Amino acid sequence: MSLSLMLFSLSENRYVPAHVTPHTIDLAALEDISNVSSPELVGFWSSPPRIKICQGVNVKKSRIEKAVRFWEHLGYEFGEVYFDDGEWGSPRGCVPYPGEIAFRIAPQGMSFQAPDGSTYMALTRMQTIVGTYELISAEIFVQYVANYEKERMVEHEIGHALGWLHNDSSYHIMHPLWPRGGHRISGVHKTDYDVFSTLLIAQE
Ligand SMILES: [Zn+2]
Repeated sequence: MSLSLMLFSLSENRYVPAHVTPHTIDLAALEDISNVSSPELVGFWSSPPRIKICQGVNVKKSRIEKAVRFWEHLGYEFGEVYFDDGEWGSPRGCVPYPGEIAFRIAPQGMSFQAPDGSTYMALTRMQTIVGTYELISAEIFVQYVANYEKERMVEHEIGHALGWLHNDSSYHIMHPLWPRGGHRISGVHKTDYDVFSTLLIAQE
């Protein structure tokens, strides 16, 4: 694929309003609404993100660390994985600090309903700096605790939190439909990430 083709498809699929500062990107996990044919980035981390597990999120640290290792094998780096002990008690609850990916409890009223009537297993929301596409923080909301035990689910969500969109090739880790996904990793190595990050910056 030539660089211009990649640039074209990047701008074609850009749906994030650029006037919000910093802007928030909501990505639904494992949904049925994507026709993205190659993985693309909406943002990137310029330094390794820490991963916070918020109070009340009933998941073992080892499950999250397993998903982190999946991405580390592809060349990505992360800070520590830690449990938020609630010490700082923000009135907004457990939110990610800059430089963090947080696994949070979904707030009351958060909808996991897809437009086609299917249900999202999880939602990932990111904040980026306008203009640079640098990720500030990311939040992952999982609808049910049982979903954490679904194979590949945490790995897929961390993929979004890194900035990746969907890939509709069969058995891909970023496939939008859980039953059709798998452990394929074409196009989402750290070397791909670095290329797409450069393209994101260049298109400004
Ligand atoms: Zn997804």
